[in-house]
Amino acid sequence: MSVIKLNQKLYENNLKQIIQKVGDPSKIICVFKDNAYGHGAKILAPIPKKFGIDFVAVKNEKEAYEIQDLFKKILILSHKPNGNENSQFIYALNEISKVKEYKIGTKIHLKIDTGMHRNGVFVENIEDAFLKIDEAGLNLEGIFTHFSSADEMDASFFIQKQKFSKAKMLAQKKYNHLIFHSFNSAALFRAHNIPKDEFFRIGIAQFGYGDERLKKILSLYAHKLSERILNSGQSVGYGRSFSTDKKIKIATYDLGYADGLFRYNGKGNLTLANHKNILGKISMDSFSCEDCGEEICVFNDADIWADFFNTISYEILVRLHPDIPRILV
Ligand SMILES: *Cc1c(COP(=O)(O)O)cnc(C)c1O
Repeated sequence: MSVIKLNQKLYENNLKQIIQKVGDPSKIICVFKDNAYGHGAKILAPIPKKFGIDFVAVKNEKEAYEIQDLFKKILILSHKPNGNENSQFIYALNEISKVKEYKIGTKIHLKIDTGMHRNGVFVENIEDAFLKIDEAGLNLEGIFTHFSSADEMDASFFIQKQKFSKAKMLAQKKYNHLIFHSFNSAALFRAHNIPKDEFFRIGIAQFGYGDERLKKILSLYAHKLSERILNSGQSVGYGRSFSTDKKIKIATYDLGYADGLFRYNGKGNLTLANHKNILGKISMDSFSCEDCGEEICVFNDADIWADFFNTISYEILVRLHPDIPRILV
């Protein structure tokens, strides 16, 4: 059976690095959406808790219920209002025209569109939004924004920061209890100055990506299903995309694209953690390679697969099927 091993010490190292940068664990919002970026939300959640982190963000209510008992505050990022919101949770208000569709008294954080242009209100409309929120009887607890290019630190990052400062100023004129947040992992680890009056929404950095002080915590393992000797000229897998030019011993391992691996088509050199190539196409439930024993590490650095597939580590990680067992090591 395939398995995901999560290194607890390295995860703790990353949390310590993040806490050191932020200066205060109570200002950190651990982003645990999409099963903690494929790592496994339930198994990791008790660890930030130990470090005094009491606030997480998730995608939807289903994810919030899974870790509800552990955290004082849970922000739900992608919720469509339905009048049945849970008074324990905080909901991101992404669309101001839907403000009347929430249950009265629902805790919300208003999203400000400073340039990402996915959702939220423009700074110019923020005062109008405050009126509508008050009118609808919602409980506004915070305002936040998201950067479109924190990993590049280009001019648009600074323009967005300026717009958010304006939003904070307008909010402070009307309310004195709101909290603010804008920085994600890349912004936290790249910016020279971090805001003193904000919380920080940190996702991928927890898992070790984006800075050399951080250590990648996830290793994905597969187990051998069978083995055979191939003679020169024989192929393996669909479409015969690989055939050997010498006698080799190959093995087939129990992890495929249905488990969340990208479907490698057999072209180019996609390597495992031990630098051996995957041989032939990845199947739905298995792949083949030179026989490497009963257990093989598929990857322990998603950046390598991300480079190969021309994507980002987030996408490689988040696809890992929730049914793959996760263990702390
Ligand atoms: C996913 C997400 C984050 C976390 O981003 P990282 O780059 O993983 O730190 C922060 N804020 C919002 C709104 C998100 O959707």
